Amino acid sequence: MLEFQSVALAYGEIKALDEIDLKIRSGEQVCLIGPSGAGKSSLLGLMNGRLAATEGKVILEGEDLGGLSAKRLKQVRSRIAWMPQDLGLVPNLRVHQNVACGRAAAKGFWGLMRSLLVMGRGEKGEILALLRRVGIEEKIFNRVDHLSGGQKQRVAIARALYQDPQMILADEPVSAVDPERAKALVELVTELAREEGKTLVVSLHDVGLARRYFDRVIGMREGRVVLDGRPDEIGVEELYRLD
Ligand code: ADP
Ligand code: MG
Repeated sequence: MLEFQSVALAYGEIKALDEIDLKIRSGEQVCLIGPSGAGKSSLLGLMNGRLAATEGKVILEGEDLGGLSAKRLKQVRSRIAWMPQDLGLVPNLRVHQNVACGRAAAKGFWGLMRSLLVMGRGEKGEILALLRRVGIEEKIFNRVDHLSGGQKQRVAIARALYQDPQMILADEPVSAVDPERAKALVELVTELAREEGKTLVVSLHDVGLARRYFDRVIGMREGRVVLDGRPDEIGVEELYRLD
């Protein structure tokens, strides 16, 4: 369970989020919808402790993220996968090496270096199996900067799964690709998260995708939650009004 209790977040004078009360259960698939500036990225930043609440509490599995030691926060964050908008891949490394980076926090610097330089057969096999699930196993030894946009996104999904997270957070993962590819990727990531029982929180611009693939849609506007429910409970018009 991830819980927001009367949370506010300000950047200096600018209040990005206010009066946020939310409960997200483990295994839920949540989509954040709202216009640019609504606070979606800020909310995602609070969920993995990258940002700290200015007021209120963000509680993950009973732990107040604002009150953790740096060491504990690092441990907690090692179980939360983060897919930033630019995907955060390392362009001149190969696909298997980028996927291995999913365990960077767990392995530590030297452990990761060893993986990157002389990856063992066991690890390679595990990574190959993940690449097969996202449909790009034949690219395992290709350099990431030689892949298409859609393939790079699949690498980012494989890297997120390799981390073995409890929760996957993705900030507008499909805003830069065409509608067909966006649909394929959202379908893939929701299906994999569902199969693995992982909590998934994704911000999107596309109301159609939100309604079709998620259990729950949270609508945001001007730093507040203005809608929250199952997609079939929320009127389409209400959602489109937010987009
Ligand atoms: P969204 O992801 O929905 O577009 P954000 O969470 O990025 O919304 O932004 C919410 C509000 O906070 C906006 O008014 C934005 O301008 C402001 N904001 C976001 N990041 C910063 C920052 N680093 N410094 C100052 N203001 C910011
Ligand atoms: Mg954003």
